Amino acid sequence: MPYKNEMASKISHERIVNLTEVAEKLKKFRVVYDCPEEKLNSVSALFKPIEILKEDIQDIRYVFTVDSSQYDLPINDMIPSAKVGIVTFGGLVVDLQERNELRNNGFVDPLRFNDLYESSFMVFVTPSHNVITIDAERPMDNIQSIRWEIYRFLKKSPFKEISYLETLNTLLKEGDPQEIAEFNCPNPDCNQRIEWDLVNNDPSAVIPCPNCGEPVYLSDWLRLDEAMDFEFGTGSILTRFSQVVEHLTVLNFIQHMLQITILKRALSKTAFLIDGPLAIYGEPARLHRYILRYLYRIQQELNEPLIYFGLQKSGRIKDHFTLIEERAEKQGMAIIPNSFFLVDDDYRFRYIQRRPSSNKYFGQDVLYGQDFAFYSKDKKKYVISVLYPTEKKNDESYKKIFDAKFYPTLPTIFHLLNELQTDIYEDAVLPVALAHKYAAVSLNPGTKILELFVRQHTRT
Ligand SMILES: [Zn+2]
Repeated sequence: MPYKNEMASKISHERIVNLTEVAEKLKKFRVVYDCPEEKLNSVSALFKPIEILKEDIQDIRYVFTVDSSQYDLPINDMIPSAKVGIVTFGGLVVDLQERNELRNNGFVDPLRFNDLYESSFMVFVTPSHNVITIDAERPMDNIQSIRWEIYRFLKKSPFKEISYLETLNTLLKEGDPQEIAEFNCPNPDCNQRIEWDLVNNDPSAVIPCPNCGEPVYLSDWLRLDEAMDFEFGTGSILTRFSQVVEHLTVLNFIQHMLQITILKRALSKTAFLIDGPLAIYGEPARLHRYILRYLYRIQQELNEPLIYFGLQKSGRIKDHFTLIEERAEKQGMAIIPNSFFLVDDDYRFRYIQRRPSSNKYFGQDVLYGQDFAFYSKDKKKYVISVLYPTEKKNDESYKKIFDAKFYPTLPTIFHLLNELQTDIYEDAVLPVALAHKYAAVSLNPGTKILELFVRQHTRT
């Protein structure tokens, strides 16, 4: 039964559509990006069946995943425009070989499950519109306060040893030149180009701008403060911040694993799962190129591919996938289970969305993963973003990016999704679904996650 309001809005919706003028007009419109029925034959043929052979898959034991929630709250009731922004980060390491111990007679204990899942291991609190920090060493305006809080957060180490700023420093060394990170002085009245020494500077150093004296942090490279919207509050800055930190947390964990011999061996048994596409949007977008180069390099060094991918629960490709499935079924054809489809730009710009006016390739300034649609053995639809198989993004590398044979991790990823899917219903948050079934360690501030990980790994 719809709610009263829903019913009312449905009735008014129908009334408007039935107005003669509107009805006449609607006949003259056409959807631009659609999947035409007559082309369906070739469209469903786009899905390539994949035989998942044992020798082609890596034996994945752990899934590492991070997610975040954001809040934009007034600091008191009297001045609703004065706001603080809060982001909480949660995460899990799931052990696929151990069953969930929270289960009792087949049921998950909800209290213990909430303890496990809802604990946040990192919390970010920042002043937003009309609020400043007063515990800094000097008086600060609103933007300076936000930059200071971002710096203080990124100075922390999510897993004890390596700080977020050290992770950022390591990533920036993938640039050209390798030793220097260049960015503008964050003081909007100053045009000084800052040349940050990535080799000799402590990543958490505070260095005065040589022109105006403004204290500069390495975190200013991310330009997150520029996402602050004085009209609409912290929404945009919190979204950008949480996205960057989610990626940095996964990369920080990988760096920890690389440092400890026994964990280094566990890298090939671990799947790193990002919530959403492999992309960095907005002001810090250029970081995506450094991440791509870094991950490419460590895979070369390890001589094995990392299972690193993003899962997209919604979006245009997911909608398009649903459309193809429905239309194909109506026409008595069906997509073959265990088949996949690499969504290249040719197809994307013809049937899904408009070609960007400024760029040749889709996501040229933000993406470091390629979209694939996967139709699982149980006919579940997944849209995943798989790490590009290249170091750089240029015309030459896009030929590889759009060719499925350069993605050696596909069988492992598809196998993993096939294995996991029994518990993932539509719209379920993947970590929650995983933690229902398997033993999971929550990334708590009190949990020595690395030690636990080592212990679990050395037991086998
Ligand atoms: Zn300056």
